[in-house]
Amino acid sequence: MPEIGSLSVAIVGGGPIGKWTALMLAKAGASVTIFDDGSLNTGHVNAGWGFAYHSHDPAVGHLATQGIELYLRMQDEVLPPGVVTEEWSTVQRSATAAPFPEGLDELEGYRLLDPADLAVNMVEGVVVHSVVVPGELLLGALDELHKDLGVKLIREHVANPADIPDADFVVNATGLASAWLYNDREFTPSMGTVVRLRKPEGFSGVYAWDDATNCAPYAISQEATGNVVIGGTTKPVTIEEARDWVEAGSPPDLATGEFLVDHISTYLPELANTEYVRTDTGIRPERSDILLAKDQNDHRLIHATGFGGFGVTVAPAVATRILDIVVSG
Ligand SMILES: Cc1cc2nc3c(=O)[nH]c(=O)nc-3n(C[C@H](O)[C@H](O)[C@H](O)COP(=O)(O)OP(=O)(O)OC[C@H]3O[C@@H](n4cnc5c(N)ncnc54)[C@H](O)[C@@H]3O)c2cc1C
Repeated sequence: MPEIGSLSVAIVGGGPIGKWTALMLAKAGASVTIFDDGSLNTGHVNAGWGFAYHSHDPAVGHLATQGIELYLRMQDEVLPPGVVTEEWSTVQRSATAAPFPEGLDELEGYRLLDPADLAVNMVEGVVVHSVVVPGELLLGALDELHKDLGVKLIREHVANPADIPDADFVVNATGLASAWLYNDREFTPSMGTVVRLRKPEGFSGVYAWDDATNCAPYAISQEATGNVVIGGTTKPVTIEEARDWVEAGSPPDLATGEFLVDHISTYLPELANTEYVRTDTGIRPERSDILLAKDQNDHRLIHATGFGGFGVTVAPAVATRILDIVVSG
């Protein structure tokens, strides 16, 4: 890892992107401070599923592939045991589902178990190599690592990152809040809900269906938390609607949660009467193209936003990219 000993870096945003970036930079020797105002908590909403994805923005797919490799490589070296679990997930398809994925050739390099299956009969299902990373455990583990490395956490709202004194670099890792901080109108946020249920005895694995309802439901068994997370809903919202919801205290959408339990129980009846833990709703920081580069007008500002529903999956790869940018000046 390169030495960047004398540099000081301020990271605005302590979600998965900001916290992974802090870890990588501090490990390389930089002096790192995170500013977080606690206004968004999408990292905690995370369902915990990471897989290589065929996205409208190919960069997300590449970062996801790299992110999964880094999670697997770093799980024992860096993260405490149990935070990361490797899974081979079967994505079940219904006959009515839209073709998935579009453009099979673009999947080259992604770790599907047997890409030939895709072409033969998509109704049978696709086996995807993935990781399960519960967001709340990950962020807690990163906090502990930060303490050991001297990363400072300041619980403050940053109104203007240009005002942060003494930082050689400032990383904008504010997620959707970048829409307000930088008046970035490229976001197309979407609201999603996940329900956590207590894992029934013997339940394991990751399941997903593309059943042409108003969601692409999934169920993810998290050994480390003892929960099953179910989710898969997507409701487009405007940037203004997202802000209203954040200002209302980010309330969970309980009706959507109930829909998820009913719907997924039709596939997995063992989840129908399982102990309920909680419902979380969040807004995915979806952007038409991710922003992962130095600001053209400000030599010390690095933007890292717009990772949509994949922020946890891509975070270690994004952090590596930011380290490269800092090292190359
Ligand atoms: C229902 C749902 C399920 C999801 N499931 C998955 C999944 O299975 N796998 C996956 O990889 N991803 C998943 N995601 C997406 C993931 O949660 C996001 O992509 C991720 O949280 C984005 O991380 P981030 O660090 O860019 O931003 P965020 O997590 O939004 O963090 C930004 C942080 O910056 C702080 N902040 C913002 N503005 C300021 C400011 N001006 N001053 C100080 N602090 C500020 C906020 O309080 C927040 O803590 C899911 C999202 C939802 C909604």
